[in-house]
Parts: sequence; structure tokens; C-alpha cells
Amino acid sequence: MGGCHSYPSATKVDSKTPQLSDIHNDKHGINNNNQEERPYLQQQNACQRITSANMFALTSLPPGMDRAEWLASNTVAFFKHVNLFSSALSEFCTPSTCPTACGPGNVVYFWTDDHGRKLKCSAPLYFDYAMSYIQELLTDEDVFPTKAGAAFPNGFIFLVQKVFLLLFRTLAHIYWSHYSEVLVLGLHPHLNTLFCHLMLFCQQHSLLEPEDTKPLQDLITALEQHK
Ligand SMILES: [Zn+2]
Repeated sequence: MGGCHSYPSATKVDSKTPQLSDIHNDKHGINNNNQEERPYLQQQNACQRITSANMFALTSLPPGMDRAEWLASNTVAFFKHVNLFSSALSEFCTPSTCPTACGPGNVVYFWTDDHGRKLKCSAPLYFDYAMSYIQELLTDEDVFPTKAGAAFPNGFIFLVQKVFLLLFRTLAHIYWSHYSEVLVLGLHPHLNTLFCHLMLFCQQHSLLEPEDTKPLQDLITALEQHK
């Protein structure tokens, strides 16, 4: 598989952002980033990107390329980027700071186990399950074949949709519960760029339902306005 994308390095960090020491001093309990103000919507944050590349061109199916192959190579690339991003914040996402896997508006994500049971678990556990599940799919030759000429399975698109839903939820949790750390680390231009790229890819290839993206619809609108 080919066609993976990469991002250039970060732009400079806004000097007005809070310092890491502020975060640690404030950490006395459940991560409570979920103020009504939603700082990720503020214009000075929503306008930040690390590239002005044409995202539409990046996400469109290249002429002559097999659609399943294009979906597969992008799924692998997005998984790597989202996994890297959440790993960078893992020290801030613990069972005590994030006892539930929540997203914007305090929507709570439940993990469904192999027996169809819904488990309410902490955010780090939920996203650990999610990343392990995706990793297993991506390395399964029957689902994501890497050999030339190998066929993709029936239902491939449904598995890709499930992967993108989990990746979306990972970013939704970061925006909702860890945005202050993102700001301190100067990663908000990266996060916005990754989120915009992922959303556009999902829109172009019909991978997410409006109901799934609703918790971050205000951000999607803000990012659209502040390109
Ligand atoms: Zn968390």
C-alpha cells in the first residue's frame, strides 16, 4: 500500500498560551476541560494549522486508483497519526482524570466487547481497547491485504467506517478533555490539521454518520470558517 501522507513540523507556539506548570497545579481531580466556552472554538485557536495544503486534493481518490486500496492506505496513515497524537497526551489521560470515555457535551462512549456487552470504562482503557482493535485489524492480511492483487473482503467498508468512528472519538475526547494540555504543548495547529484532514476524508468517502460527528459539529463549522 502507498499514498501515506505526512505533515511538516509545527509552527511557532502562541506565547499567550498557559504553561505546563499551570496544568499540573490545577490537576486535583477529574479532568474538567468541559467549560461552556469550549476554547477550541475561539478564533485564535480554530484558525491554527500547520499547513495550507489543499486538503481536498489530498483526500480525493487519485485518478485510476482502486478505491479500496486508497481507503486502506489512508486508514493506516490516519491510525498512525491519531495514535501518535494520543500517545503524546497519554500522561494526562488517566483513570482518575478521565474516569469515563467522554466527548463534547459529556457524551459517554461505551466499549462493546466480543460478546456484545457494553462496558463503561475509563478513557485510557477505552482508547487502549480502540487502538488495539484497530492495530489487530490493520495487521490482519484477510482484512487489509498487503500483497499485490489480493482482494479486499466483503464488508471492508464497514470495518473502515468503524475504524474512523474510533479515530474520531479519540480526537473528540482530546478536544473535550485535554485541550488545555494541547494548547500548552503548542499542538493545537497539529490537532486542527489532523482533524480537518480526517473529517474531509470521511466526508468524501461517506465514512461517518452525521449523528456520529454531531458532538463536534460546532468545531467543524468553526474550522470551516477560520481556514
Ligand atoms: Zn482523557
